[in-house]
Amino acid sequence: MEMKEKLQKLEKKLSAQPINFESFFSKKAMEIKASEVRELLKLVETSDVISLAGGLPAPETFPVETIKKIAVEILEKHADKALQYGTTKGFTPLRLALARWMEKRYGIPISKVEIMTVAGSQQALDLIGRVFIDPGDIIVVEAPTYLAAIQAFKYYDPQFISIPMDDDGMRVDILEEKLEELRRQGKRVKIVYTVSTFQNPMGVTMSVERRKRLIELASEYDFLIVEDGPYSELRYSGKPVPPIKHFDHEGRVIYLGTFSKILAPGFRVGWVAAHPHLIRKMEIAKQSIDLCTNTFGQTIAWKYVEEGHLDEHIPKIIEFYKPRRDAMLEALEEYMPDGIRWTKPEGGMFVWVTLPEGIDTKLMLEKAVSKGVAYVPGEAFFVHRDVKNTMRLNFTYVPEDKIREGVKRLAETVEEELKKL
Ligand SMILES: *Cc1c(COP(=O)(O)O)cnc(C)c1O
Repeated sequence: MEMKEKLQKLEKKLSAQPINFESFFSKKAMEIKASEVRELLKLVETSDVISLAGGLPAPETFPVETIKKIAVEILEKHADKALQYGTTKGFTPLRLALARWMEKRYGIPISKVEIMTVAGSQQALDLIGRVFIDPGDIIVVEAPTYLAAIQAFKYYDPQFISIPMDDDGMRVDILEEKLEELRRQGKRVKIVYTVSTFQNPMGVTMSVERRKRLIELASEYDFLIVEDGPYSELRYSGKPVPPIKHFDHEGRVIYLGTFSKILAPGFRVGWVAAHPHLIRKMEIAKQSIDLCTNTFGQTIAWKYVEEGHLDEHIPKIIEFYKPRRDAMLEALEEYMPDGIRWTKPEGGMFVWVTLPEGIDTKLMLEKAVSKGVAYVPGEAFFVHRDVKNTMRLNFTYVPEDKIREGVKRLAETVEEELKKL
């Protein structure tokens, strides 16, 4: 038979009995869907729209020369370990270097925590779901909260309770009322998840008083706290605030750290610092996922911390991002019409904008894109998707002049929407 004929026959056969791929997916897989906003934003990345939508660090901040030097050294001296499988808990010299670094920077005694390395904090979020969440368990998150955390936890079918935010972070007083109410109903919160410092998406930081109160509540109402701290080091103004983990004497805080925003996200190296008992369980859960975290990346991260490059590099990232943060806040001040509110982050990567009620930022996005600017509509950051008039703006990825121009275009878009109200 001719090749062409063969192919035609095969095609006919296939179309006669099309495979119903859907029937193969698990119930869980059927539930997960790509968000339409993400799809729209994907298109934006390739056009000349100024995108304030991203969540990426600026590649200019990647310490390429340092990484090059370290990589050569690692391959010359430690290739046997760097290219081999590692233990699930992580490369021990890195775990030790991180423990020392956290003790020095955050005043968290080495003796109080065990550290496990993970494939980015994202993996830790999934492990937390696996290890702690049974269907129906009550998990508290901030409103708004980190989108990828919602996605990671949701897979394990918790019941979410969301607590409002203000400029000082999570409204811990409202959390307390909620805890009391649940207690009366005989229910219990298992985990409170917080991005405590320069929150994604709002950019705000939980005050010290609230941190201390949250720890007290954890003890009083018997829950664990997951503190996600990817931005803690990126402070451009104001006074440093110790992590909640610093105030944790009982071992209730699971702290998540990552190299993604202070070295480079491509290595996929992060860490969990928590009570050894909790780490042990997470370690067992991780075994079946990936055996171990990227060993080569871990050895590079080890030298990066151990030789002091991290401490040297952080001020450089700050110097690079601060003018961008300033540019965004100045541009908002200059261009935004009255009645629009936004956060004034002292660090991190994002500003959160609140428009008057009645404006749906998801519907407004298309118009903004046609004017040459993109943002992330805030709705997806709320577990109950019940807030429509907010948006997240990123200031780390595009340069200052573009930020100004982007905010100007956005302000024009908003102004037109206001007229319609
Ligand atoms: C960027 C970010 C992370 C980092 O995730 P990795 O998997 O370590 O890259 C974690 N949490 C939040 C809130 C973030 O914004």
